[in-house]
Amino acid sequence: MSEFRERARAWLEENAPHLPQGDPYSDARVTQGRLHAAGFAGITWPTAYGGQGLTVIEQREWDEEAQAYDLQTEPLGIGLGMVGPVLLDLGTEEQKSTYLPRLARGEWIGCQLFSEPGAGSDVAGLRTRAVRDGDEWVVNGQKVWTSHAHHSDVGILLARTDADVPKHQGITMFVIDMHAPGVSVRPLKDMSGASKFNEVFLDNLRLPAGAVVGEVNQGWAATVQMLRHERLALTGRRTRRDDPSSHAFLADVVRKSGRASDPLVRRTLAEVFVGERVGELFASRIAEEIKAGGDPGPRGSVGKLAAGRQARFLASAVTTLLDGQATAWAPDDTTGPALAQIVSTAPRLRIAGGTDEIQRNIIGERVLGLPKEPK
Ligand SMILES: Cc1cc2nc3c(=O)[nH]c(=O)nc-3n(C[C@H](O)[C@H](O)[C@H](O)COP(=O)(O)OP(=O)(O)OC[C@H]3O[C@@H](n4cnc5c(N)ncnc54)[C@H](O)[C@@H]3O)c2cc1C
Repeated sequence: MSEFRERARAWLEENAPHLPQGDPYSDARVTQGRLHAAGFAGITWPTAYGGQGLTVIEQREWDEEAQAYDLQTEPLGIGLGMVGPVLLDLGTEEQKSTYLPRLARGEWIGCQLFSEPGAGSDVAGLRTRAVRDGDEWVVNGQKVWTSHAHHSDVGILLARTDADVPKHQGITMFVIDMHAPGVSVRPLKDMSGASKFNEVFLDNLRLPAGAVVGEVNQGWAATVQMLRHERLALTGRRTRRDDPSSHAFLADVVRKSGRASDPLVRRTLAEVFVGERVGELFASRIAEEIKAGGDPGPRGSVGKLAAGRQARFLASAVTTLLDGQATAWAPDDTTGPALAQIVSTAPRLRIAGGTDEIQRNIIGERVLGLPKEPK
């Protein structure tokens, strides 16, 4: 076992059970701060920008060790998995040294301001405008479905900077302060009862010239790059035994309900298990490829599609196998709410990060080389 893995395992064994498990946002910040102080955050980011300056091998080792624990850092996923990486790829020195250390330490939460009421799958159809005014840009428009914006400090924004060229050529990517005057965030409630995504209104938001990420009007290439980071982040991970969305958790519930000997129930459980393992193995394969210096490119869409499919299958298994247990439960039953969460959150995975249909288009056209769909 490598020295890094040994150190990670020992730290997790000692500290993970004592990390906070209450409010998701403030606890995520605290947990990330502790991970950073211990040398386990921003593992592959350069030390100059608050990272550990290690390689994807240590990152993989950390991910494997940490999978056994519920670290509650999910609200930081967009900042760490997408905002940070795109700034590392394309940001200026000033952007990297301003944002990356604070994201790595959990001081700042990041969000992605791409989708609009009329531009989701077709992100390039966006209508938010950024108009040059001297040294500044003035932004007006509306974004929607912006995950974690109500707790975010920094956002990656796409805006149209030239309306007279074909739509993909007139977009610019900006990095913005979510607390600046001109940014208003209104949380939306989803069907699970949670408020995780938002509407964001941009009214005469003034941005300095240094807020441009990459080149003016070259935002489409930057967008594709950031979406790739997103699809990889959404690809399946090894599932903990006590995670309600794991095969092991569902099998326990079925056993307790006394239906474990029914062959049809066993077959459904086996299918849940197979889907889970296939997702894990695909994620490992992609991780190994990155570790070896490769770039999975559009094949990240396969993992994202598989994760959405598994979530849907699991939700249907929960509803068919457990009769009403995911719909109504006794006040002292803690399993019912966990099962209800599986059912009510499953649809989000087939939409967020690009819908299943869009992933299929990407796989068909860019992985399998099939003819493009007619526009
Ligand atoms: C939980 C959640 C979190 C999200 N977080 C964020 C976020 O943080 N930031 C952000 O910017 N966005 C976010 N989104 C938005 C998400 O990216 C969009 O909802 C998604 O891209 C789909 O866009 P849309 O909702 O406008 O649907 P539409 O694009 O209008 O699609 C409607 C339907 O048409 C289908 N369709 C559209 N075009 C095609 C095509 N060419 N071929 C075949 N079928 C097609 C779609 O698959 C879908 O079924 C989030 C969404 C969810 C559900």
